[in-house]
Amino acid sequence: MKIALSIGHSPQDGGAVSTDGKWSEYGFWREHVVRVKEELERLGHVAVVCNRTDAGGTTPSFAAKACNATGADLAVEFHFNSAGSGATGTETLCFPGSKNGARAAGLIQAAMCDVLRLPDRGVKGVADTGRGYMYFKKTVMPAVMVEPAFAGSNVTDYDRLKERVAELCVAVARAIDKYFKEG
Ligand SMILES: [Zn+2]
Repeated sequence: MKIALSIGHSPQDGGAVSTDGKWSEYGFWREHVVRVKEELERLGHVAVVCNRTDAGGTTPSFAAKACNATGADLAVEFHFNSAGSGATGTETLCFPGSKNGARAAGLIQAAMCDVLRLPDRGVKGVADTGRGYMYFKKTVMPAVMVEPAFAGSNVTDYDRLKERVAELCVAVARAIDKYFKEG
């Protein structure tokens, strides 16, 4: 199957910044998402790394457009969270109306929690948070957004993400493979 691996935000607007000031969300995932791609391809899938700027803009609508242009069967967008210093844990967002989106989100969320061992904040419908609404609204395939850790505001979350990112990427790829095998 074909999977769009969308790097969140853009070179112009990198999103949140890690607690050590080293990585934007965009920069972090630009560096690491290739590991998800490699594992998916090892499992026999085709994975295309994309970004909203490929479609000519920096808003979530353009992220959807970039994913749609790949012709993928599933789109996954990569982020990390930032909030008040008390917030911690792993969450995955999906569009509540999409049964397959919710199923993919559930598998990916479980896989990320298994690796990171941070608090499981669960799968969230985008209506609960408002984040990325146009990305979910405009993608033509089931779509998921991952927020593995509060790397922008919580040092423990960031350290965990940084230490385990290679393992995390493999686990996400395997959860995607499972999504297609079960579907
Ligand atoms: Zn983000």
